Amino acid sequence: MTIVTRFPPSPTGFMHIGTARTGLFNWLYAKHHKGKMRFRIEDTDRARHSEAAVDAIINGLKWLEIDWDGEIISQYACGPRHTEIAHELVKRGEAYYCYCSPEELEVMRESAKTEGRLSFYDRRWRDSKATPPAGVKPVIRIKAPLSGEVIVNDKVQGEVKLNAEQLDDFIILRSDGVPTYMLAVVVDDHDMGVTHVIRGDDHFNNTFRQNIIYKAMNWTIPVYAHLPLILGPDGAKLSKRHGATSVEEYRDMGYLPEAMRNYLLRLCWSHGDDEIISTEQAIEWFDFDGIGKSPARFDFDKLNFINAHYMKLADNKRLVDLSMNILKLSGHPYSPNTEKYLLSAMDELKTRAKNLAALIEDARIYWITGEISMDEKALANYDEAGKAIVKKIAEALKTLTSFDVATIETTCKSIAESEGVKLGKVMMPLRAALTGSTSSPSLFHAIEILGQEEVLKRIQN
Ligand code: GLU
Repeated sequence: MTIVTRFPPSPTGFMHIGTARTGLFNWLYAKHHKGKMRFRIEDTDRARHSEAAVDAIINGLKWLEIDWDGEIISQYACGPRHTEIAHELVKRGEAYYCYCSPEELEVMRESAKTEGRLSFYDRRWRDSKATPPAGVKPVIRIKAPLSGEVIVNDKVQGEVKLNAEQLDDFIILRSDGVPTYMLAVVVDDHDMGVTHVIRGDDHFNNTFRQNIIYKAMNWTIPVYAHLPLILGPDGAKLSKRHGATSVEEYRDMGYLPEAMRNYLLRLCWSHGDDEIISTEQAIEWFDFDGIGKSPARFDFDKLNFINAHYMKLADNKRLVDLSMNILKLSGHPYSPNTEKYLLSAMDELKTRAKNLAALIEDARIYWITGEISMDEKALANYDEAGKAIVKKIAEALKTLTSFDVATIETTCKSIAESEGVKLGKVMMPLRAALTGSTSSPSLFHAIEILGQEEVLKRIQN
């Protein structure tokens, strides 16, 4: 049997971290078992539908370098098929037309409330031979079991039972002919050949209901694995309050997709104490037995640690290209030589930052352009004494015929010596003049990369 998993997000406008993890787990499970992962957009909410929201999901998946098999399926486009199955279920005696008015349903709801019943609909049309009221458009309801237990065998949560009394004969086709979510998911999963459903455990309750439809159609029930939630560091549901919750935000901060995959993998899945797990290893190791039952907590420090690891491994040119995108996004004006400088400096830069946004901040010296404005700390170092020293350095640097790290370092050190000050007293004002701030990557190295002309020009300015 070929294993077929599925990724069926609803297009909300961005890709939530939890959605991305679901996608990753489905993908890894399929890859591990040499199966397929199908991709379906659950776009039935037409009131809120936008193509941009669909693109956001597709782009999020592409950015994570997660691929899928076959065409992208639109759930909305499968509407006629859902309707066909609803009618088929009526024909099979597994579903029925219900003509209740909103007022009647309200009365039922009220009495269920007073009696403390979880299901409210009294099933009056289930076996009714009455003549339908004229002019009323019926809904179609499924015949849920009347007694006993409904059992879901879940690969993560184990065997979970629900008393049939808690299940209503729920609606599968609305009176306006629109299929319900409960029906659409089952029909689509069946038609797409899905064998394994891996999704967030907020869908667990749907599973009991969806299985009723599978049974009524005599379709094979898929294997289920419901993943625990992702919480914020404080144990509350992950929300904006904790920081970025969408994949796009992490991309724009300059996290690498391979780091993001590694990090997402560890949200409720483990392999011993391993933290750094390449995608190849993940495909080799991923299975249901590694998925834990308790919710994961989002840990920003761990994400930074993992990202820093992958940045060190990444190709310099790729990091330059990604950093340039972030710089462009930031709207800062930047020097036309930025790319060249960053490429020369990347070996050092990539070991210093947790993400590319931080790298760009750290690499100011390589992109600032025009008049350099100094921050407060830099100004404090750029007093009269500081200015005098920088002037001397400029004079000395001007005479150099070889502009390499060693010569630059010797020059600065000999100025410190002749001035009778510590090297720091020379470097701080120089750094202020060249960057406008008090931090930068290794300054001797940066001076070599910027080159004699640029350095002297900046000091002159
Ligand atoms: N569209 C649902 C969501 O984005 C997923 C439904 C499912 O996995 O069955 O949460």
